[in-house]
This record gives sequence, C-alpha cells and structure tokens, in this order.
Amino acid sequence: MTTSPSFRLVPLGVGDAFSDRYYSSCLFLEYGGYGMLVDCPHPIRKIMKEASASSGLDIRVETVSTIVLTHLHADHSSGLEGIGFFAYYAAGCRIGLHAHETVMAHVWDQHLCGTMAPLCDPVERQRKFTDFFDLSTMTTGAPAELGPFEIRCRMTHHHVPTTALKIRAGNATLGYSADTSFDPSLIEWLSDADLIIHETNVATHTPYARLAALPAPLRKKMRLIHYPDDFDPASSCIECLEQGRPYVVTPSAAR
Ligand SMILES: [Zn+2]
Repeated sequence: MTTSPSFRLVPLGVGDAFSDRYYSSCLFLEYGGYGMLVDCPHPIRKIMKEASASSGLDIRVETVSTIVLTHLHADHSSGLEGIGFFAYYAAGCRIGLHAHETVMAHVWDQHLCGTMAPLCDPVERQRKFTDFFDLSTMTTGAPAELGPFEIRCRMTHHHVPTTALKIRAGNATLGYSADTSFDPSLIEWLSDADLIIHETNVATHTPYARLAALPAPLRKKMRLIHYPDDFDPASSCIECLEQGRPYVVTPSAAR
C-alpha cells in the first residue's frame, strides 16, 4: 500500500523586523520532495541550516524549488540577493521566484538591480533578473500551480503591496495572513484552511487582542507568527509557531 506524502511546514523564523531574538518571519513547506520558501529574509542559508538541524528535514538552496514572496519589506525579502547569488555562482541553479504581479513589479527595479546587475568585468554584460531567478507571477483571480502546491492569494492591508496565501497540497490547506492590519474579511477568506498562520504585532499590524476575541474553533486551528520579542507565547490563547520546529499540515476535522 502506498501512502501519500505529508504536507510539512517548518517556521524558519517567527519574529518581526525589530527582533534580536528570532529570525524574521519565513516558512519552509515541503510536499513529496518539492521544497518551497514563503519569504526569504537574510541570512537565509544560515537560517535554513539551523532549521535543518532542529527539524530533521533537508532544507537548503538545492532543496528549495521556489520562493513565494508575500511582499518586499526587508524582514521578508532581504535574503533574495544572497540566495540568488549563491544559486547562480555556487550551486549552478536558478531558483524559482513567485509573487503577485504588483509585488514582482518592484523586486528587480527597486530592490535587487542596484547590487545584482553590475559586474566589475567590463567585458561581461550586466546580469538580468532572469539570470538568477525563474520568475512566475500570480493574480488574485486564479490559483497558481507550483509543483504539487496550488496557491491562491489575496491582497492585505499593509504599507506596500502584500498578499496573504492559501496553499494546498494533497488534501490539506495552509492559510497565511502575511503582514496585515486586522481584517475580518481576510480572516473569513482564510477560515476554510486547515491550519491558519496569522501575524500579530503592534502599530499597523494585527493586535493580539483582536485575534484572541475570535471564535474558539477558529483560534484552535490558528497559529501566531511575526510576534514581538516581548510577547509571551506561554500566555497566548492562540498557539504560537515555534522557530525551527517541524509541523505537518493535516485536514482539520471541522472546516
Ligand atoms: Zn511588512
């Protein structure tokens, strides 16, 4: 009898942009040997190496087929230059990069071009975005297929274009709020996922109190990420993701 693969999840980082305690928020997903990152903060190879050791999964540039980028704030995207250079020059591969078209529109011209395009050797041509990454975009209208994963996205309320995600593999779906202010319609959109990862933080992020007031069945399948250093996971009524711990996304009994 053959068994179907497990939908594996390792939170590589659970902190916010100001954290000196955690790596910033980033996920590794794996199904049937296809590895994927959701966001890519610096120093991503050290982050992956430590998560490999703690989770027992093989997490490195060569086992990541695609990076799904939610938005361009540095705590979610500052590892792109390093992973792109490493893949191109050291691993001899081109890593996939997938994002909503409004996010992708700025990745090269306003983020990576200044440091990745120039070359010291005047004989060589400048590098292009597609030298480093195998690009694909998604829209909010239709699901995208990446290996065994089916991905849907929705814009969130944030300072720069940002997408929440619903990612399905096998018979289970993971929902991820990405960075957002409190948005009941986003939570409603995420609510049919089997496991929901939701950010919480201060200022324009989602206050913990608003999530703590959600119905118990929703809180039960919700996990928190992007929490401040002084947030106490032990006192939270919603379970906090632990950095470097392996999880399996399974169909929930109640949708
Ligand atoms: Zn952000």
